[in-house]
Amino acid sequence: MQEEERVLKRVVIIGGGPSGTVCALHLLKNAGAHPPEVIIFDKKPFSHYGPLGCNMCAGLISHTVLETLEALGISVPASVIQRKVKSHFFETRWGGVSFENEPGTTLYTAYRGMGPLDPRGEEGLGFDQFLLSSAVDSGAQHIQEMVSSLELPSNPIKSIRVKYGNNKTIEADVVVVACGVNSDFPRVLKEAGFGYTPPATFHACQAEIPLEEEEVNNWFNNSVKVFSLGLKGISLGAITPKRRFVTVTVLGAHVRRADLERFLLHPTVSRHFPPNWNLPDKYCHCHPKVATSTAKNPVTHKLMVVGDAFISRYLKNGIESALYTGTTAAKAILEGKISREELLQHYVKPCRERYHLDNYYGKLLFKMHDLFARHYWFVVPRLQMVQEEAKKKDWKEKPETQVLWHLFTGSAPYRSILSRALSRSFATSLMREYLNTIKKRLKGKPPSKEQKP
Ligand SMILES: Cc1cc2nc3c(=O)[nH]c(=O)nc-3n(C[C@H](O)[C@H](O)[C@H](O)COP(=O)(O)OP(=O)(O)OC[C@H]3O[C@@H](n4cnc5c(N)ncnc54)[C@H](O)[C@@H]3O)c2cc1C
Repeated sequence: MQEEERVLKRVVIIGGGPSGTVCALHLLKNAGAHPPEVIIFDKKPFSHYGPLGCNMCAGLISHTVLETLEALGISVPASVIQRKVKSHFFETRWGGVSFENEPGTTLYTAYRGMGPLDPRGEEGLGFDQFLLSSAVDSGAQHIQEMVSSLELPSNPIKSIRVKYGNNKTIEADVVVVACGVNSDFPRVLKEAGFGYTPPATFHACQAEIPLEEEEVNNWFNNSVKVFSLGLKGISLGAITPKRRFVTVTVLGAHVRRADLERFLLHPTVSRHFPPNWNLPDKYCHCHPKVATSTAKNPVTHKLMVVGDAFISRYLKNGIESALYTGTTAAKAILEGKISREELLQHYVKPCRERYHLDNYYGKLLFKMHDLFARHYWFVVPRLQMVQEEAKKKDWKEKPETQVLWHLFTGSAPYRSILSRALSRSFATSLMREYLNTIKKRLKGKPPSKEQKP
């Protein structure tokens, strides 16, 4: 860009979720002596209980998210953390296995808003509210209004006009759109005329199920439970423990609340709850969209789309990818790389290189996982493999445990998970357990359907 265009006075960020707030934090903490004015628009009342104040997710926070925040000098306080996750439990139609985290890593759970409707004394601070407050403490201005439209100038030297609230307008040198995929704004952007096409999405369904804290301790024991039961329309289910609730998530192209209840009342799922547990008549639930592909044309002159509205890791660890795109956008802005061509090179390229192709491997892995979960001969040898691996000390000698852990936490590129799953040592171990399964079947041992969770 020309030198006179590079003086950056005001950055407007549309959306105060993780991608928007981390972009603001990076800008303010790394701009040196004269940071630009950073304004974050978000109407969501993050201090409200229930879906109204929540960015609707299971709330599993990976260690890489905390590391990114630490690098910005932000430590997530204990009041935000609901639980430290120590293990995962993988449940199938033929039994389940538990496995601990990769050594040296910790996962946490948190609410994205203040917590469920009817919080029953559940207190704390939501993750998004904490990030937004941190950005404000670092110098950002938060305007609690909805942005309704953008006016892109025909002359690129001129500012972008941002319309918000009740017909108010503000001018911005740079606009960062961090609106996620759960509002109408992706459609507004599409109509702005620079070629943006939002990512494809499908629905998830989530519920916050109330339990006593002791019941969560006894029955979930700081473990995230992942279910591959081959149920019609539900590709994956998960239960994420909070302090006095558990978050139940079901994924599938057309899942509805009825599917979530069908999942919860399935005997293999309900036996993970205390014996006297019944599905409450009323519970906090939501129906958010999940981004499943990459948006087209996410940048134009002085404007970039970040987070889910551009690209995110397929189905897992979306907060981490939101932080990555937000940070990469902030770096490009601070380097003055804000023309369309520069943004394509310095922002879009690294983000696509990290996630775009890898998400195809992710889709393949989840498809294979879903397909295999329906067949006894694929499931049982893998469960036995994890059980055998539990006896070993060295994480490197646990190929199937690694595959499942990375798949469920999204903490490694999908390509590397796939190549591990196709490695010779993996195939050898799987073959051994496959033969063991055949031997057991020949001896007449029934499949271990009733394994205790
Ligand atoms: C069911 C489900 C479970 C998930 N579980 C996890 C998980 O356990 N761990 C994980 O890491 N990821 C998870 N994710 C993914 C994660 O939620 C997203 O990847 C992440 O929130 C994306 O962040 P973002 O900032 O791009 O968008 P969002 O978090 O969606 O934030 C967008 C913000 O923009 C605001 N906004 C929208 N339009 C406007 C407008 N016009 N004006 C002003 N503000 C606007 C919204 O109010 C919102 O606050 C899950 C997703 C789903 C759907």
